Amino acid sequence: MGKKVAVLTSGGDAPGMNPCIRACVRFGLYKGLEMYGVRRGYQGLIDDEIFPMNSRSVSDIVQRGGTFLKSARCPEFRDLEGIGKAVANLKKYGITDLIAIGGDGTFRGAKDMADNFDISVIGIPGTIDNDLAYTDFTLGFDTAVNTVLWAINSLRDTMGSHDRCSLLEVMGRHCGDIALYAGICGGAEYILVPEVEYDLDEIASSLMQARERGKTSNMIVFAEGAGDKEQICSYLKEKTGIKITTTTLGHIQRGGSPTMQDRILANKFAERAVELILLGATNRVIGIKNNRIIDENVSEALEMSGKFDKKLYKLAQIMSL
Ligand code: ADP
Repeated sequence: MGKKVAVLTSGGDAPGMNPCIRACVRFGLYKGLEMYGVRRGYQGLIDDEIFPMNSRSVSDIVQRGGTFLKSARCPEFRDLEGIGKAVANLKKYGITDLIAIGGDGTFRGAKDMADNFDISVIGIPGTIDNDLAYTDFTLGFDTAVNTVLWAINSLRDTMGSHDRCSLLEVMGRHCGDIALYAGICGGAEYILVPEVEYDLDEIASSLMQARERGKTSNMIVFAEGAGDKEQICSYLKEKTGIKITTTTLGHIQRGGSPTMQDRILANKFAERAVELILLGATNRVIGIKNNRIIDENVSEALEMSGKFDKKLYKLAQIMSL
């Protein structure tokens, strides 16, 4: 019999988690592993929501957003006592390896577990924010950006009809990637992100210049961590006299059927995770760099910063002229 491996999803859900669970289970079974699922992330590990999975357990989920294993935040997992309970449950089933799909919090929890107990852990990045610097892309980011693009397309129709300026708030408390990618693809004039300082007076005068150049409507894409939306709107309105309508997409960005890109990543990430387990690896996280699947030590991965693509940001500015 092969090793026993559990899969869970934790933290914020992201489209692509379902196809990734499916791929972990099916590739693991193909390689002779015994696969288990855990409901509700680390909380489910502590509460013993652990169950065996076969190929049929992951039927008809490839096209669904969210995670059929469900996700949870679990404060109890932040101390060793909680983690100890989780490990005791895994041991009851003879499980030696865990695949944790989630964001940086999930990876920190996984590392605490692998560092202090005899369980091997592999992390797969699943978060719409794309806020992990060691990997170019995370599961869910592409779907989220496409959802934002759909919203931008609709907003552009009505903005054009009424000569309006629209400010669209998207997710991204610390990472402006959703705003950047959706902004450049959707033809936004201004992209406000936490990584780049901006000057509201400059934006106000360029808004007015754009109107003089014949632009009748404008789009500002704003990452939630880039400042105070209401203040920005009222300041710009006062300076320019242009009416600005705001739209907040919120959790709509977290759902939706995963795109081709996210499903491909899901399959490739899962394949590498299972391969690493077969090699006896632990404390590794999977990613994609320059279109190649990579794996990285979890501590080193979490220490990396500064992946914001300034060149792409500059290109977006040029395209908005
Ligand atoms: P994400 O994985 O999307 O970043 P969270 O930050 O909510 O989401 O983390 C998910 C779970 O991982 C938390 O509920 C907690 O159980 C665990 N976790 C988060 N941060 C840590 C940490 N610093 N140490 C140990 N476990 C953590």
